[in-house]
Amino acid sequence: MITQEDFFKKLIAHSKEYGFIFQSSEIYDGLSAVYDYGQNGVELKNNIKEYWWKSMTQMNENIVGIDSAIFMHPTIWKASGHVDAFNDPLIDNKDSKKRYRADVLIEDYLAKIEDKINKEVEKAEKRFGETFDKAQFVSTNQRVLENQEKIDAVKKRFVDDLETNNLDDLKQLIIDCEIVCPVSGTRNWTDVRQFNLMFSTQMGSVSEDANTIYLRPETAQGIFVNYLNVQKTGRMKIPFGIAQIGKAFRNEIVARQFIFRMREFEQMEMQFFVRPGEELKWFEHWKQARLKWHKALGIDAKHYRFHDHDKLAHYANAACDIEFQFPFGFKELEGIHSRTDFDLKRHQEFAGKKIQYFDPELNENYVPYVVETSVGLDRTFLAIISNAFTEEKLEDGSERVVMKLPAVLAPYKVAVLPLMNKDGMPEMARKIFDNLKYDFKCQIEEKDAIGKRYRRQDAIGTPFCITIDHQTLEDNTVTIRYRDTMQQERISVNDVNKIIQDKVSLKNLFKN
Ligand code: ATP
Repeated sequence: MITQEDFFKKLIAHSKEYGFIFQSSEIYDGLSAVYDYGQNGVELKNNIKEYWWKSMTQMNENIVGIDSAIFMHPTIWKASGHVDAFNDPLIDNKDSKKRYRADVLIEDYLAKIEDKINKEVEKAEKRFGETFDKAQFVSTNQRVLENQEKIDAVKKRFVDDLETNNLDDLKQLIIDCEIVCPVSGTRNWTDVRQFNLMFSTQMGSVSEDANTIYLRPETAQGIFVNYLNVQKTGRMKIPFGIAQIGKAFRNEIVARQFIFRMREFEQMEMQFFVRPGEELKWFEHWKQARLKWHKALGIDAKHYRFHDHDKLAHYANAACDIEFQFPFGFKELEGIHSRTDFDLKRHQEFAGKKIQYFDPELNENYVPYVVETSVGLDRTFLAIISNAFTEEKLEDGSERVVMKLPAVLAPYKVAVLPLMNKDGMPEMARKIFDNLKYDFKCQIEEKDAIGKRYRRQDAIGTPFCITIDHQTLEDNTVTIRYRDTMQQERISVNDVNKIIQDKVSLKNLFKN
């Protein structure tokens, strides 16, 4: 058994070796927490986008999309609260000179205690077997109770500190919990400071009158400030949604874990505008709908869970994350937030323009409430590849690495492989390739032994290989090889298209 850490290292190495993800500016020794998608990565990423985009804007007649600019009027970020409050509390260790997020240090500490409780429960489960009553155990076992008490106390103080912006006590809490720096092993901490995560730059040619503008830290505000444009020009009736995919930028304090936390990343967000008072119903609706979207990809349901927020942002009246079990544990993949009328009201106030909806059924004007779904494209990518990456020992003792990507998302759907580079096989392969390429992204590969070519296709996740051999020239049949089972079947050339289409169509995914 390899550890999760080794698994993750292998996944990162594989992503590079097979053209999925490269470190940005690698020949200059890289730029921290910025990544480039390679020739296979970009295809997979585009396919994820298409799956999300169509599921929103094509499968819902009341959701439309936009593509707003990254640069926006700077007052937007005052109105949204980002200029004043889009901060993370940071703390440095004076010995290692390493920087941390104070809240993450405490969350990791809490997770460790939770782990202890889970281990205690597992041990007891083994000991008692069938008769084990978990609820009773956790409510009576002394060690579990002590640990739970510790968690509750730290959590309460932590939430209070964040809510009241009490940075001194946040530091004291780190000291009281005896949290040490993982690098130096010491507790020699600086004070906690707030750090704004927005990148800024100047717009305008003369520096004196140039305006400070920001690189957007979320795509949502581009939707809010276009609410009236879309509602009016699209004659949208509430409830309706606006979807957008685009880049966002955050100057993250600690950027680790590969593409999980980047300084430049992509979000897929949808704001759903509803009647005041109906937001919690829609919140529940979108929670379920979004979980279903993830699960439809065929990834084991036990890798997903909901996590309700302990501390709500000032503008939210309900918030929930969909967490995914990444190689480094359960972490946020998507956020679903009931944002009330906070954003539209603030823009109304700061822009001095009425942002309202006239509801003909109620015969009434109001500022709509908003339920948003916000998923990281890169995190979805990471979830999918970490689930797909598989090392297998085969019956003959050899090994293979295979990316068991959902066929509908795979960079290449088909590889067309002439068994030999002679006797008309390459020409026949070209003919089949030219016929398939209108429907699918295909590859044609003539070099190397067939086994080696299969392995290369496995490594990039190509679900089907079509092999052309002597028999093909005689009876117009080919073998189709299935990536996951490695089984091969002989089929008529005329059936290739249909067999593949069935497995890779978004339509079937949506219908199921
Ligand atoms: P976290 O707590 O992990 O920093 P967040 O709660 O700040 O995330 P949101 O502001 O809710 O995240 O953003 C919505 C989604 O955008 C997240 O669920 C995540 O998938 C993605 N996301 C946020 N920050 C990053 C980042 N630095 N790199 C990659 N994806 C990100």
